[in-house]
Amino acid sequence: MAYAKSRIWTELDFEKDGKQVGYLHLPHSVTRSAYGSIAIPCAVIKNGAGPSTLLMAGNHGDEYEGQVALTRLIREIEAADVKGRLIFVPAINLPAAMAGARISPLDDRNLNRCFPGNANGTATEQIAYYVEHVLAAMCENWLDLHSGGGSLAYVPFASIHSTRDAALDKRALAALKAFGSPISMVWDWSDEPNMANGAATRNKAIYLGSEFGGTGTVNPDAAKLAYEGTLRVLAHFGHLSRRNPRLQIAPAPKKVRWVEILSRDYYVYAPQPGLFEPKVKLGRMVKKDQLYGLVHFVDDPMRPPAEVRFKTAGMLICMRHPGRCERGDCLAHLATDAKG
Ligand code: ZN
Repeated sequence: MAYAKSRIWTELDFEKDGKQVGYLHLPHSVTRSAYGSIAIPCAVIKNGAGPSTLLMAGNHGDEYEGQVALTRLIREIEAADVKGRLIFVPAINLPAAMAGARISPLDDRNLNRCFPGNANGTATEQIAYYVEHVLAAMCENWLDLHSGGGSLAYVPFASIHSTRDAALDKRALAALKAFGSPISMVWDWSDEPNMANGAATRNKAIYLGSEFGGTGTVNPDAAKLAYEGTLRVLAHFGHLSRRNPRLQIAPAPKKVRWVEILSRDYYVYAPQPGLFEPKVKLGRMVKKDQLYGLVHFVDDPMRPPAEVRFKTAGMLICMRHPGRCERGDCLAHLATDAKG
């Protein structure tokens, strides 16, 4: 049994009906606490037979809208509201979330590059292992709510990844439509086995992701979208009733803009280390070869700045937030309207 292999333990009973709010305990033996553990918050809300859905945020600790939405939903949803089972983990990489950092301060690892994890590895590898082999293994649906984090600003959108499993892709697309993000994306080429979407595919679970904002802050519109969209998709899965008077499920927007990213050419990288001055604002449409911005060399004032241009046309859906950049930093990526 997969449970036996993970060193993470919990007092939560995933098979029990009712609402339980507790912790996943990751053993962490250090000088100040020889037999200590890191307590990762987790809620199980179960009511009879039905589907199981994993709701996760804090995969990257500095991505906040999903953390806000899921902690609120843990407080609001009661067992009587639910059919089937909801498993909430609003700050899955807790050490990173508490540090407001993308990666864990314990091992400098990025959870979303650690799947399928290692039962006896570093702290982050053990979390990945538990998510893939215990939590995702129990669920047919997985929401993993991301944002841009401290280094990126995004025009908020929800997304799915193509998996080359037609039945899974069909279910995922229906879920994405039900989530009702005004901008929705299908990632077609980012099939990374060490990312959470790869873990979902290995478990034959649909994987609904997002990029809700960024810049190391909470975008209020995106936090609202994360909350309302999650309620809508839980109703779509059959967990919640739309007639529940206590949980007001907002209608989905009438118009959805479908976008896609088709190649590496949609990404723009810093050609030199320096101070980046963008000339285009987030959300604007740009043309191929248009000037995106200038990398300035403030320690060498007579040196002309380096020009950075777009390699393709599209919407500036993501841009770097901090001013300073190193060579190779992602300065932007575009998205284009999906052909359908
Ligand atoms: Zn992320």
